[in-house]
Amino acid sequence: MRPFAYLSADTPKGAIAASTADSQFLAGGTTLLDLMKLDVMQPQRIIDINPLAAKYGRIERSAEGLSLGALVRMAEAADDPNLNRDYPVLAQALHLAASPQLRNMATLGGNVLQRTRCPYFRDPSYEACNKRAPGSGCAAIGGLNRKHAVLGASESCIATYAGDFAQALIALDASVELAGPDGQRRIAFEQLHRLPGSSPQLETTLAPGELITAFSVPSGPWTRRSLYLKIRDRESFAFALASAAVALDLDGDEVKDARIGLGGVATVPWRAREAEAMLKGKPMTEAGAEAAAEAAFDKARTRDQNAYKPELGRRTLVRALLGAAALEI
Ligand code: SF4
Repeated sequence: MRPFAYLSADTPKGAIAASTADSQFLAGGTTLLDLMKLDVMQPQRIIDINPLAAKYGRIERSAEGLSLGALVRMAEAADDPNLNRDYPVLAQALHLAASPQLRNMATLGGNVLQRTRCPYFRDPSYEACNKRAPGSGCAAIGGLNRKHAVLGASESCIATYAGDFAQALIALDASVELAGPDGQRRIAFEQLHRLPGSSPQLETTLAPGELITAFSVPSGPWTRRSLYLKIRDRESFAFALASAAVALDLDGDEVKDARIGLGGVATVPWRAREAEAMLKGKPMTEAGAEAAAEAAFDKARTRDQNAYKPELGRRTLVRALLGAAALEI
């Protein structure tokens, strides 16, 4: 690992002021330290924000919904009884995201900012990776791409977004609170991640020096009828080949509202709005769920080794929708 300077920030203002173009914030460190050891990330300065946990490490509930501090550990949120009862899709996504050891360390803010698992990105001995070395090409397009994205890809990058929790946040219409040099702001969670386009090295809409401070999840009739389904190569901790986070508001059999986040198949946490529109105002049936899943993958583009993904993604979504509709609440 390369040498770096270490600073500890006692206040949000101090953390933001200490941020420079070649610095990184350190929370759980489960992504950052990994990538520093691999020489993929080379920050010259690490700003430890763990002392801010008193301010940003709380789970709070109100009539309006849920506030999850960015420094809450994944394990704490995953095991929270209120989350498991009232927002099951969040708790399930966190449980399925990582091993207990990682959940004990990793924070919610860090989790949504995790980087792709594309093997060419994680191994600097491969020269061609536009995300790691802009303008160098993409080794995955003509190489190993079995786990790569079929939605949201570009000719510059087809890397899959690796997380799970982000899909659950999308399915619950969450927003994300940010603090930076220009003050505080809030954006829809869906706007946090950027499609790769011609600049895959730019992964989020965070401004320089900006910190995620919390996630806000509105309350609503769909939060309890929600679930996360993750399909992977092995049931022990692995990244999704396809996943679906769904939240439904039903009136009898009729779908009043549906929210869908897809994972393992796209370059960013993916909101399947076309599928949602297909479901609304209609009875929840297997045929209806299949039609919605068809719509969700209508624009999928496959590569040499990932042609199985649209079908796997469709089946995952159908199972998740029917499972959520069958929940006894
Ligand atoms: Fe790099 Fe993206 Fe291509 Fe992977 S898919 S090699 S991350 S540019």
